[in-house]
Amino acid sequence: MTDRQEENVQGRHGSPAASGRRRVACIGAGPAGLLAATHIKNARPDWEVVVHERQPKDVTYGYGVVFSDVAVRTIDYMAPALGELLAEQTRWEDIEIRAKGRRYRIPGHGYAALSRHRLIGELAQHAIGAGVTLRYETPVELDELRGEFDLIIAADGARSRTRQALAAELGASVGRGRSRFAWLGTTATFDAMTFIFEQTAEGAAIAHGYPHGDGLSTFVVEVPGGSRVLTGDSTAPGEIDLAAWSDFFSEHLGGHRLQARGLRWDHFPAIRLERCVHENVVVIGDAAHTVHYSVGSGTRLALEDAFLLARTLARVDDLPRALAEYERRRLPMVRELQTAGERSMRWFENAPMFLDDPARFSVHLLSRTAHVDLDGLAAEAGPLVDDARAAYGGARGGSVLRQPVDVGGLRLPSRLVVETAPGTGAGTDATTGTGADAAVPVRPGLALGPCAPDGAVRGAVVDITALRSARRRDDGGPDLALLDLGPCPPTPERARRQAEFVVREVGGAGGADGRGPVVAVRTEADIDRSPNETLPPLLARLRVLHDAGLCALVDVMAPKGRNLGTDDAMTALETAGMVRAALGVPTMLSGFGDHPEQVEAHVLAGRIDLWCMPS
Ligand SMILES: Cc1cc2nc3c(=O)[nH]c(=O)nc-3n(C[C@H](O)[C@H](O)[C@H](O)COP(=O)(O)OP(=O)(O)OC[C@H]3O[C@@H](n4cnc5c(N)ncnc54)[C@H](O)[C@@H]3O)c2cc1C
Repeated sequence: MTDRQEENVQGRHGSPAASGRRRVACIGAGPAGLLAATHIKNARPDWEVVVHERQPKDVTYGYGVVFSDVAVRTIDYMAPALGELLAEQTRWEDIEIRAKGRRYRIPGHGYAALSRHRLIGELAQHAIGAGVTLRYETPVELDELRGEFDLIIAADGARSRTRQALAAELGASVGRGRSRFAWLGTTATFDAMTFIFEQTAEGAAIAHGYPHGDGLSTFVVEVPGGSRVLTGDSTAPGEIDLAAWSDFFSEHLGGHRLQARGLRWDHFPAIRLERCVHENVVVIGDAAHTVHYSVGSGTRLALEDAFLLARTLARVDDLPRALAEYERRRLPMVRELQTAGERSMRWFENAPMFLDDPARFSVHLLSRTAHVDLDGLAAEAGPLVDDARAAYGGARGGSVLRQPVDVGGLRLPSRLVVETAPGTGAGTDATTGTGADAAVPVRPGLALGPCAPDGAVRGAVVDITALRSARRRDDGGPDLALLDLGPCPPTPERARRQAEFVVREVGGAGGADGRGPVVAVRTEADIDRSPNETLPPLLARLRVLHDAGLCALVDVMAPKGRNLGTDDAMTALETAGMVRAALGVPTMLSGFGDHPEQVEAHVLAGRIDLWCMPS
């Protein structure tokens, strides 16, 4: 054993050598690798820190990266020089949504952007200044570093070979977005975070455009799965026809052309790890977790990883303990943003199905990952909310929760549903609304329970047996029977068979003579899986019931006995929105809280029609 190997073995086992000299290797000179190397070297000047990068110096992929004001403040704290640079960069306040010939501006956000090339150049300079060794044009594999270095930081990006080599040890899962995208640039000028939606007979295409300095704007083109725009039937990653796409988006590019670094389509890799440490290897940045470009936070997360890792190594001498602490603290922090990123990715993949009225569609986009306060939105973007309300059939400034809705021929006077426990009275008023009418109560449109307040439609939650024996409406029976079918079977085939059984059992319970109750379906939300996975069986089940006249409304209900958070409600809302768009029936959410004002934007957007809460 050589002296150097011996020193490494000691270091790896967290011996007293820990406070002595160590050798650290980074794989990848992207934002994560460069910032980690710089901070480690600054904190431990006696350590040797070497960054290996397979590309030549100053060669990188992509165009601009954008940061929200919150992200800029975080970066300023972690890397003040970079924060200063960002403060001097292209800045803007607005989001602009362009769809169906309309343009809506939403001010009050705040972004800064710069080219990825500039960002990496700046970080590389800091690394060199700190005494880090940068080795360009040096592609490396984990195995060749293991014997030589005490610590290996894998910052080798979304297609990390290190992660692939340790996939089992790290519990890696790698999903693939359904849309194809290309990260392009243009000399066309944008002065907002601009989302462009174009629909043709061949399908939809989306662009995400924003300025990033150096006289250039970023222009990410996204083609949702199923769309054949300019690509025919091909779904394989292939060459991008820049001239054809420049013509396609010419109205928005004002005659400017698109340019590319690398000419291939890609599918967004959705990466999650259960663990990010294995022995003396720690995986950071995109190699450990990606965040969809539509929420623009991947670089920020990569920098945060680097910062926290270096901080932990500076504080905790024992290497295994330091890595374990980093892993324990860091992974939960990134999950929330990843979940939002995955939700946003699915939204853009499914956007064409929501594209009807441009104003309501814009509210749909803005509320895709979180509840939106409609009051706040109206204050920032009055014309947008006014148009959305008008398209909805509502009055300017009036709460959409007070609008009537038709469910299977029944006219419900408001969007609020109250569910009472058997034996209790129904009909508490919910106070909601905006501005001047904030104190005006919304009376429930539908009461699910033994009695209904004046004006409300009477409903009952039933099982198959109760539905079969339900009395006629003119004989005191409920106007609407909500058939509770519980969780959906996991596969489309099983879901279809179950629904066919229900149809056979209840037959014409909806009342072929029109005098039985209108029948709606209650289905339990699966909040543990992605709506992309749960939707096919759910739609298979609902289509059979719908065809049999047993699905005038779909109620997506909270699973019983679970502690539910806002994100669970977002999953259920996403599911309800997709069901509504696919089946064309009204949808309702039940059991996710008693604050209807939180969901007003979701009603306006057209994700749900009704909100059900306990009395
Ligand atoms: C279309 C698009 C738009 C985006 N927009 C934004 C945005 O606006 N804001 C934002 O915050 N984020 C954005 N991102 C995400 C952002 O690009 C990444 O999150 C960020 O680059 C991650 O940094 P990283 O250092 O982990 O990986 P990378 O930046 O990918 O760096 C990895 C480096 O490792 C090198 N490497 C790989 N393998 C080896 C090897 N075997 N040996 C040596 N070197 C190797 C690569 O050459 C590369 O330089 C966007 C991503 C995409 C796809």
